[in-house]
Amino acid sequence: MLRITFLISGILASINFYFTESIIVQILSIICLLISLGISVFWPDPLPPPPAPDLWSEAPESKERDMKLCSNCGKAVDQKWSMCPYCSKKV
Ligand SMILES: [Zn+2]
Repeated sequence: MLRITFLISGILASINFYFTESIIVQILSIICLLISLGISVFWPDPLPPPPAPDLWSEAPESKERDMKLCSNCGKAVDQKWSMCPYCSKKV
């Protein structure tokens, strides 16, 4: 957003340069044009905000549930279950 603002001010300065008659305004327009275009080109984009620290703490917990594979159909079944929900055989 900041870069766009500087880019717009650079474009305005170049327009100003083309339409003005006086030398001082031309010089000022060139300086303004160079500064604003330079900033708009070289200004670094702001870094994205870091992810919340508790964002990742929840996901592994659900994955660390004890799972075992059904001996009949081979699908992952919760460790506490004694019956496979897919093939209803004893695991
Ligand atoms: Zn099964």
